[in-house]
Amino acid sequence: MVYSAGNYDVIVVGAGHAGCEAGLAAARMGCRTLVITLNMDNVALMPCNPAVGGPAKGHLVREVDALGGEIGLNTDRASIQMRLLNIGKGPAVQALRAQTDKKHYQISMKRVLEGQENLDLKQALAERLLIEKGKICGVLTSTGAIFKAEAIVVTAGTYLKGRIVIGDLSFPGGPNGQFPSVGLSDSLSELGVRMGRFKTGTPPRVDQKSIDFSKMSIQPGDEKPYQFSFVSPFVEREQMPCWLTYTTEETNRIIRENLHRSPLFTGSIQSQGPRYCPSIETKVVRFSDKPAHQVFIEPEGKDTAEMYVQGMSTSLPEDVQLAMLRTLPGMEKVEMMRAGYAIEYDYVFPGQLKLSLETKIIPGLFTAGQINGTSGYEEAAAQGIIAGINAALFTKNREPFILKRSQAYIGVMIDDLVTKEIDEPYRMLTSRAEYRLLLRQDNADLRLTEMGYEIGLVSKERYETYIRKQKLVEEERSRLERTVVPVSADTKKILGEINGAGLPQQGITLAGLLRRPEVSYGDLLLLPMSHPDLPEEVREQVKIQVKYEGYIKKQQSQAERIKRLEEKKLPTDIDYRKVKGLSMEAMEKMENIKPVSIGQAGRIAGVTPADLSVLLIFLEQNRRNKNRNHS
Ligand SMILES: Cc1cc2nc3c(=O)[nH]c(=O)nc-3n(C[C@H](O)[C@H](O)[C@H](O)COP(=O)(O)OP(=O)(O)OC[C@H]3O[C@@H](n4cnc5c(N)ncnc54)[C@H](O)[C@@H]3O)c2cc1C
Repeated sequence: MVYSAGNYDVIVVGAGHAGCEAGLAAARMGCRTLVITLNMDNVALMPCNPAVGGPAKGHLVREVDALGGEIGLNTDRASIQMRLLNIGKGPAVQALRAQTDKKHYQISMKRVLEGQENLDLKQALAERLLIEKGKICGVLTSTGAIFKAEAIVVTAGTYLKGRIVIGDLSFPGGPNGQFPSVGLSDSLSELGVRMGRFKTGTPPRVDQKSIDFSKMSIQPGDEKPYQFSFVSPFVEREQMPCWLTYTTEETNRIIRENLHRSPLFTGSIQSQGPRYCPSIETKVVRFSDKPAHQVFIEPEGKDTAEMYVQGMSTSLPEDVQLAMLRTLPGMEKVEMMRAGYAIEYDYVFPGQLKLSLETKIIPGLFTAGQINGTSGYEEAAAQGIIAGINAALFTKNREPFILKRSQAYIGVMIDDLVTKEIDEPYRMLTSRAEYRLLLRQDNADLRLTEMGYEIGLVSKERYETYIRKQKLVEEERSRLERTVVPVSADTKKILGEINGAGLPQQGITLAGLLRRPEVSYGDLLLLPMSHPDLPEEVREQVKIQVKYEGYIKKQQSQAERIKRLEEKKLPTDIDYRKVKGLSMEAMEKMENIKPVSIGQAGRIAGVTPADLSVLLIFLEQNRRNKNRNHS
């Protein structure tokens, strides 16, 4: 018996990392929004690692935050450890990574959805998508409810025809013991949407009290308090550590002796998994020369003894999992609380999507998240906010909101998804972006908040905070450019103490001083002149903009050059295994495909702009050698 259960502007199927962002974006832009999930207790569930961020993923979180999204704020609320990674490297690859309390993350995100004006959150299993005159118009649920809307965003994640595999056991299911979503996948296929199949996996969870941490090395959080959101209130919090241990030769032996029972090697699992999160059995086979692999033991939260065994994702039989875990230093007597497993699921070939994430064949139907072939909470949240924004704009007959590759990692990701044939779960990497130095995690607000405000997602209050920051950055930059350091005994003495920095006779501006690698922004404040008391993030921004000004300008011209070289021909007899600096993925794929031009090479999924630069240098060297041999 079907019944009409309500009319909305936008319906979002799924309350995972994509669904939460999509629903909040549409509701905050004034749309009557419904978010449905097949289980109210899995809102913002983190079925895999308890971490948010890291290189490129942290950039996505900052970009979603700058646009008015929630993942950054929610991670700050639920984080139990925060680290800034790659501090020894340049600002383009520096990225925040948070360990979160998974339960707290869910509760806090659910509360935001429940508190959001214009948004209804309901438990329901979507079975069919409804079409009228070729356009999307509603959803039919398993209980016969029909919800109507002009735009629908499907963010069904890893649930579509989910199949759980542990050794030779397999059964239909979603993550963490949830049930799968079958009807929705069939409904998409019947509408003409081409579906593929991917897999991902997760490691066992073990009992904290059964671990001997004295045999591991502690991985504490950073003392300096970092936050993902540009507007999170600062909260002092005690950080929980992670721990580092390693697999051993004995681990490798147990795995090798049981490969005949591994679904990945018996063929029971056929679909492709994420290259950058390989299972431990794949690592042992693929990197057979490596005696040991790093394993991080991460707390799943403050109020649980469950520890996540990062680096040991597996679908080996349970008895093998326990045996291999007990070969790791510190885990000799470990108790497993949950076995690792693999999950296979249907996804939509993203080549069928527009850059707005609307499907090309059904107006008003949008898809976002893992369903589009990506892997990761951050990638899902980034697509979710874009799909939510565009669903809202669709209902208002406004132009879609598209981010370019030069504006955001979100733009890079979506452009890759819809233009490159992806053949494995897509994970964001800094090397996928041409303009890395322009797309830093520290300037996401300066790149995107204005746009978020214009489309009606960023609140007025938040916009004013951003304008104030931007003004402070500009004022301080011009102050540094115009302020000449007085040549005096005092300044010479102070500078002398700063790594022996000298003071040129003709004087130097503060900006000129700051451009010196040995001088930090903090050093400038030692000089005897009045300095404005600026917030840490403004100082950081000014420092980066002044110190990297030259590189940023160079990056822009490099990007121009790469684009120009799109048509540069490639000899087909190159042995790519001999081209040093290429990523393993690029080497393998180019060796298979033998591209005829740089342009073609650039379109191969997995070949990044960084790989293209390596190739161009290799070609140039070849050319010079040839000339030298002929001369
Ligand atoms: C076992 C496992 C291991 C993973 N390992 C990794 C990893 O190593 N690295 C990594 O980066 N990522 C990993 N992930 C992926 C990560 O969890 C996802 O990328 C992320 O959760 C995707 O978010 P999403 O919003 O697209 O989908 P999900 O978080 O899966 O949420 C989907 C939502 O859709 C709802 N839903 C589905 N079907 C229906 C329906 N018919 N009706 C109503 N609601 C429905 C569900 O209730 C859920 O709320 C793993 C995921 C799993 C399951």
